Amino acid sequence: MHCSLPISSERRVLCVFPAYTPSFGTFAHAFRLMYRVRAFMPPQGLLLIAAYLPASWPVRFIDENIAPARAADFAWADIVMVSGMHIQAPQMRDIAARAKAAGKVTVLGGASVSGAPELYPDFDYLHIGEIGDATDRLIACLDDSVAAPAAQRRFETNERLPLSDFPLPAYDLIRLGRYLIGSLQFSSGCPYRCEFCDIPALYGRQPRLKTPEQITAELDAMMAQASHPPVVYFVDDNFIGNRKAAREMLPHLIAWQRKHGYPLQFACEATLNLAKQPEILALMREAQFLTVFVGIETPDADALKAMRKEHNATLPMMEAIKTLNSYGLEVTSGIILGLDTDTADSESRLKDFIDISAIPILTINLLQALPRTPLWDRLKRDGRLIADDSGLESNVRFLRPYDEVVATWRRCIAYAYDPERLLARFAHQVDATYANRMIAPARGKLTIPNLRAALVLAFNIALRVGLLSDYRRPFWRAARHAFRRGQIDAVLGIGFVAYHLIEFSREALRGDQNASFYSTHRREGTLGSEPLRKSA
Ligand code: SF4
Repeated sequence: MHCSLPISSERRVLCVFPAYTPSFGTFAHAFRLMYRVRAFMPPQGLLLIAAYLPASWPVRFIDENIAPARAADFAWADIVMVSGMHIQAPQMRDIAARAKAAGKVTVLGGASVSGAPELYPDFDYLHIGEIGDATDRLIACLDDSVAAPAAQRRFETNERLPLSDFPLPAYDLIRLGRYLIGSLQFSSGCPYRCEFCDIPALYGRQPRLKTPEQITAELDAMMAQASHPPVVYFVDDNFIGNRKAAREMLPHLIAWQRKHGYPLQFACEATLNLAKQPEILALMREAQFLTVFVGIETPDADALKAMRKEHNATLPMMEAIKTLNSYGLEVTSGIILGLDTDTADSESRLKDFIDISAIPILTINLLQALPRTPLWDRLKRDGRLIADDSGLESNVRFLRPYDEVVATWRRCIAYAYDPERLLARFAHQVDATYANRMIAPARGKLTIPNLRAALVLAFNIALRVGLLSDYRRPFWRAARHAFRRGQIDAVLGIGFVAYHLIEFSREALRGDQNASFYSTHRREGTLGSEPLRKSA
């Protein structure tokens, strides 16, 4: 569905999605192992806006994670539209500067500007909030004139477009084969109120939903491209924010998979109490969900209570993780350090958690206060917010000494991504998780692009990980274990994920990456879209 406003002018729109600052969650190091993969995930939000623009307006779409917008692209455009998250703020400002130099009017939307519009004085128009009445007013304004306004103008959504009226994202404007994983949004919003999270304030506590037919139509659109990612990530804030809706949608997904010979696999983000939903878990297994990101945040029950995340403690944490594993779901976990409840013991408790849970991928971040969160308000009241340009790794004045918190982070990263330990955790997953997955017919996956991609990946893993790396021994130990159980797919998955995590953590420990990956905070359905993080 395009915007239905009467339009009188033709406007050429250049949509530019900024490059990501590297993070654990973008898997950038792994791209060099893959065939033509250049970016992490299609930017859902900007693709959605591109699809919503008036049908008569030509749209050009550039994802700067793949290639930068050229001078000719800016020269072609009447309007430059940008979106992104806090982590992309410098890149967004850079795009605005290039567009201004080319004499073009600039528009910014997405998660970051919706949370903190004051950070972006350089743009002509700001779109705050999700797609809705503000989008229509903005389009009407641009239809009227593309001259830069004398002063910045803001359009804020009061009435959101229902998700059931969302257009199909403009996948036709991008080449999906360039992305590591596909993205898809089923719901928006989360019923919980974790202290550090901006999702409830930005997107509401009553999850809003697409129809199952919209979901399968989006999958059809992805499949229409000869080459597309084999895994699609449900970018919902919390996949079980509305459990009834998830339960009702999953059979449609299963029917679609059956009809097409199971061409895709899925991942999502959900709260840990998913473990209490055996019916949903069984359906997810049948639909071929392989991974679930869970914002575990801390293994400490009192700390969960303090951050208002008690729902993670409604059942024993290790038991919940084992339950998810028993349905073939590998858990990826978000962890936060620098909490007010941290003590001298927190480090050893986290290390124990890493060992006992055997979760391979943990994004361990320093606490960061996001605008429009209860945490932000509390720290502001207490005078504990630090300016972003302080040069520190976080904008929070921790209760424990700053150097000690950062040193703890470094030691925990070194511990978690020590190759022996990481690959032992993967080897554990072979029996605990991968063996529990449903063996689906291979028919839908047997395509020439898929076979070519698998061959290139296998060759590069054998060379860079299996032969040239200094962690080839633990890799082959895990790989042999998976081979013996016939899990060839798992060997490829272990190889490319381990390669990225080990290389990235080594950079981080050398000081080439920072400790605050917080702002990979994912958010879809607005003018923005981001890599893996950590809402549920
Ligand atoms: S952190 Fe997750 S569970 Fe908590 S409010 Fe945000 S989206 Fe919901």
